Amino acid sequence: MEKRLIVQKFGGTSVGSVERIQRVAERVIKTKQQGQQVVVVVSAMSGETNRLQSLASEVDSLPNARELDVLLSAGEQVTVALLAMTLHKLGYKATSLTGWQAGIITDDRHNQATIKSIDHDKFKTLLNDDQIVIVAGFQGMNQNGDVTTLGRGGSDTTAVTLAGLLGADECQIFTDVDGVYSCDPRVVDSAIKLDSIDFSDMQAMAKHGAKVLHLPCVEFADRYNLDVRVLSSFSPLQGTLVTRLPSRASVCGLALQREVYRIDLAPLKADAIVAQCQLLGVTLHWHSGSVVAVDSNDVSKLLQMLQQDIIDVAPVSTLTVVGAELDELYQKVQMQLLENDIKVLDSFRCDRVVKLLLLPEHLDRAANFIHAQYIELSHYVAKDKKELIL
Ligand code: ADP
Ligand code: ASP
Ligand code: MG
Repeated sequence: MEKRLIVQKFGGTSVGSVERIQRVAERVIKTKQQGQQVVVVVSAMSGETNRLQSLASEVDSLPNARELDVLLSAGEQVTVALLAMTLHKLGYKATSLTGWQAGIITDDRHNQATIKSIDHDKFKTLLNDDQIVIVAGFQGMNQNGDVTTLGRGGSDTTAVTLAGLLGADECQIFTDVDGVYSCDPRVVDSAIKLDSIDFSDMQAMAKHGAKVLHLPCVEFADRYNLDVRVLSSFSPLQGTLVTRLPSRASVCGLALQREVYRIDLAPLKADAIVAQCQLLGVTLHWHSGSVVAVDSNDVSKLLQMLQQDIIDVAPVSTLTVVGAELDELYQKVQMQLLENDIKVLDSFRCDRVVKLLLLPEHLDRAANFIHAQYIELSHYVAKDKKELIL
């Protein structure tokens, strides 16, 4: 009988020290001992990619994109080697692979690349030799042999894409929380852990700031109908299954985005500027009339390119409600927040999303208020109803 193949990904905090890498190794060994083949994807040790990014910024506020990829990909190379050494020490066969050694071919978009293919034979040979294969997340190589990276948080995408392309039986994303919550549990203490979440709701959450999963990995999982389990590296709980659900919660969750800048543009130029942002690969978190909101990382790009068209730049935050039946919320929420001294600077509604633009200092309070009013209440009412029926 063919052995089951499991892809396991461990994020930065999970591999943040040699002791933690030891615990990751033990977890991987447990899976191996169950008679399964294992491919492990790891991130850089926590803080390392930020450290490399700030070294680059010290040299140039807009570093060359190709060289930035060479630099940022170094973090993951350290972790794969340390994990392989740890597994050797514990008596297991393991081989570390950088993205290019794994034949991860991407398109040309430096800093935002997409995986096109992998070297199947390489994986097959190593797995048949009973090796644990450890792959550096977040990186690949374009057709010219240049190193590329997949965007911040991209190791999730390496793992899910590998799981899809290798036909894995399971893809597990281990992180520092024990699943996907109705809001970032570091902001809302009473956030509710979701047993499962639909692909499209998870996409909306990730797109609007829930960084527990990298957006492209959820898009990939949805396209190939590949279930993904999000689990804690530090606890044995079940986690959250990201899957296709037959019915979806009314208000599913809140996604928060900090470090966003609101830019007021010269009105006549607004449309042209929006088109230019797209060409520059700048993600617009907001676009309404002559106002756009972009990541802090993209602000210097825009300031250099569009200097004379920018009227004002100010830090803001966004709060996005994801779910169905949002009419009442959209009608009432601005007034309710105002009663709590929270001013909504701008708002936007489409399909299963309501998005609010807020002052950064109001974000956490607004999230706790909306969570209590619209998520906790309906969650407990639904739970009570279910218990009554049972
Ligand atoms: P990793 O390094 O393992 O990839 P990340 O820091 O990228 O981990 O993602 C995990 C973090 O995502 C959590 O620590 C949590 O603060 C944050 N987060 C944001 N929104 C959510 C959410 N809805 N559910 C769970 N975690 C969330
Ligand atoms: N190390 C990269 C980052 O910090 C990729 C990842 O962690 O997924 O963004
Ligand atoms: Mg991450």
